[in-house]
Amino acid sequence: ARMRQAVTRTRESLNSGIDSVLALTREVDTATLDELEAVLITSDIGVDTAQEIIATLRQRALREGIDGGPELKRLLKLELLKILNSVRSPVARAATPPEVIMMVGVNGTGKTTTSGKLAALFRAQHRTALLCAADTFRAAAIEQLEVWAQRSGVDIVKTKQGGDPSAALYDALNAGKARKVDVVIIDTAGRLHTKSGLMTELDKMRRTAAKVIPDAPHQTFLVMDATTGQNGMQQARLFTEAAQVTGIVLTKLDGTAKGGIVIAIARELGLPVVYCGIGEKMEDLIAFDADAFVDSLLG
Ligand code: GDP
Repeated sequence: ARMRQAVTRTRESLNSGIDSVLALTREVDTATLDELEAVLITSDIGVDTAQEIIATLRQRALREGIDGGPELKRLLKLELLKILNSVRSPVARAATPPEVIMMVGVNGTGKTTTSGKLAALFRAQHRTALLCAADTFRAAAIEQLEVWAQRSGVDIVKTKQGGDPSAALYDALNAGKARKVDVVIIDTAGRLHTKSGLMTELDKMRRTAAKVIPDAPHQTFLVMDATTGQNGMQQARLFTEAAQVTGIVLTKLDGTAKGGIVIAIARELGLPVVYCGIGEKMEDLIAFDADAFVDSLLG
């Protein structure tokens, strides 16, 4: 129900596009499919992805015909699910706790907010969590994370602004081990002046983490802002090349019609969306569910 609510704008835009394409035809033909391709592209699904989906539907239409709108939507859902399921991977858990999750991404995407929400989500699942303020670059990021730690009732390890993020990380992982917490969530800085600068900093953090916990970080989540749609993909590629990203957290899905970006992420980055941000409040983070997403999008 919350997924359905979150993709309201994308659904309305997609469905009104599809309905207007189908208004005059019953049998789905080549012209209809060309128009459908344009509709898909407006949802930020990506040109290549839209073309690929339409090519598959066209073959189907030629082979056995597509009988009307409901059938077309059913086939479209199957194609979207196929793409999403191709990147769905089992969650890699830590051999021994704590599980270490590194949050990376450009400033403003919602990294700090998501770190806090994630801590609250784990708490709700009766897992203990520790936040690490390693965004020592952005003014106010540390205080902001402190507020989140209080709200979600978890501890925080921090240094001062301008401090060494790796030092904060080192302290946090040792504290996490000593206190036997289940998950340590690390909020990193999102400055992105050069790719090599970013790579060096993230590499240093990874090496530091591995010094304390050999298989850490277990997850690296790239936080992406859904409202930037296709424009966010370029930055995302930079991060996936610099950090060993294991999954995407897509924020601000509420209030955007660009929800098709979930499909583009799967196909073009080869990564699953793991969580979605659907508002600014603590409980506004949900685990991503491909079936619910596709049903909500075209339902
Ligand atoms: P950071 O610079 O990446 O750490 O970004 P912040 O965590 O400071 O978030 C930037 C802004 O986005 C804040 O105003 C957040 O409240 C807002 N925000 C984050 N996630 C969401 C979301 O899922 N939905 C909405 N509507 N706003 C969000």
